[in-house]
Amino acid sequence: MLFFIVVLMKRVNIGTRKTAFVLQIKRERLNFEAKENAMNLTKESIISLLADEEHEQDLLQKADTVRRQYVGDEVHLRGLIEFSNICRNNCLYCGIRKGNKQACRYRMEPEELVETARRAAGMGFKTIVMQSGEDMYYTSERMCRIIEEIKKFDVAVTLSIGERSYEEYKAFREAGADRYLMRIETTDKDLYHKLDPEMSWQKRYECLLMIKELGYELGSGIMIGLPEQTLESIADDLLFLQDLGVDMAGIGPFIPHPDTPLAQEKGGALHLALRTMAIMRLLLPDINIPATTAMESLHPQGRIMALQGGANVIMPNVTDGEYRRLYELYPGKAGANDNPAHGCSIVGQKIISIGRKIGTGYGGHTKTLLDK
Ligand code: SAM
Repeated sequence: MLFFIVVLMKRVNIGTRKTAFVLQIKRERLNFEAKENAMNLTKESIISLLADEEHEQDLLQKADTVRRQYVGDEVHLRGLIEFSNICRNNCLYCGIRKGNKQACRYRMEPEELVETARRAAGMGFKTIVMQSGEDMYYTSERMCRIIEEIKKFDVAVTLSIGERSYEEYKAFREAGADRYLMRIETTDKDLYHKLDPEMSWQKRYECLLMIKELGYELGSGIMIGLPEQTLESIADDLLFLQDLGVDMAGIGPFIPHPDTPLAQEKGGALHLALRTMAIMRLLLPDINIPATTAMESLHPQGRIMALQGGANVIMPNVTDGEYRRLYELYPGKAGANDNPAHGCSIVGQKIISIGRKIGTGYGGHTKTLLDK
């Protein structure tokens, strides 16, 4: 076990004493069972799988087989509420970055957010995902009250609200939050600091460790097709997520937004994102892997392709009216002009059409939390 920690620290280049301390207190909690099940892929073999366009279908089929074997045919649906597009950060790729003066900003009041969650629970969702920019209007106290109210609907609660302090993560957890999603985006630190100029990779990483240590199910992930991103760095990202022992890994293609500094970049690497996702399934066979909205935004069957290449989760948007259009991380977001009921029925039909089943439980990572 100690050896594993040393390797982990070496691989992610941990320097600070604070991080070493966090690692020490969390090491007993690392998901060794998933690690034992994982396929032993070297960095070199991952790079060649990523590069191999010709045999993409073979890779996706292999991931599909592993998915069936480890997590079955159920597709877990999460009701996604995008409750604020106000953000203190300035990530170059993101349509809701604070520097985008074209973005029309909104935030839901707590009552409206709870009401949206109540309706989603009424539609049958067993998980509510609350996502926003880093909007500090939602203080620890406000957020805790919201979580407590939503937990009354007998749902798992997932937060995706970015970087907060240890005390805040702890308070949210004690209020009932079950899971937390926060992508590391890339493990190439130079690239990260170029793209997220006012942020620190190390701080984001430490947040992930805190979240894990507090007993949340941890979701993280990356974007594919970022400017200057290499296959080598994507391979590092995959090994990082494997070492971290994430419970869920979201892999989405980067889609350039016209009102951001990356407007002229290429992006749109759907097939590379699919291959990356399939390799993730081989590396961590029993975790949850979403068919991401960004994939569907690039191809009308993007989520189906993902479901047939290793994915087992979809997060239909249950945000109402104008808000879902205004939460524009990238252009052409799938379902931006839809309504919750219609969007969900389309997703349901697609799942059934490929012979899969809609999950009926909370759909957590099999060995943790609510689905124990
Ligand atoms: N503030 C929270 C956080 O930092 O985790 C959640 C909101 S953040 C906007 C959600 C995710 O959207 C990011 O982690 C990033 O991976 C993705 N994203 C942002 N801009 C994107 C783009 N142009 N193309 C694809 N994905 C994008």
